[in-house]
Amino acid sequence: MSDAATGEQDDVARPLCYHCREPYRAEDAGRHTEPINCDVCYRCKGMPACYTCGHMYCTCEVHKYR
Ligand SMILES: [Zn+2]
Ligand SMILES: [Zn+2]
Ligand SMILES: [Zn+2]
Repeated sequence: MSDAATGEQDDVARPLCYHCREPYRAEDAGRHTEPINCDVCYRCKGMPACYTCGHMYCTCEVHKYR
């Protein structure tokens, strides 16, 4: 019996997110890579959920800066 496959392989290089500059795991990949179609703002449209929009008048619930 071997229980080695529990996902604790930290020696595998984790990809750095291009948008928030944080390393992410496979289970978080959706947040960092899946584009969100927010039509309210042209700047953050199509950006993944982790992206923070720097637009002054951004009304996007997902991306606006808090
Ligand atoms: Zn990210
Ligand atoms: Zn947005
Ligand atoms: Zn925006």
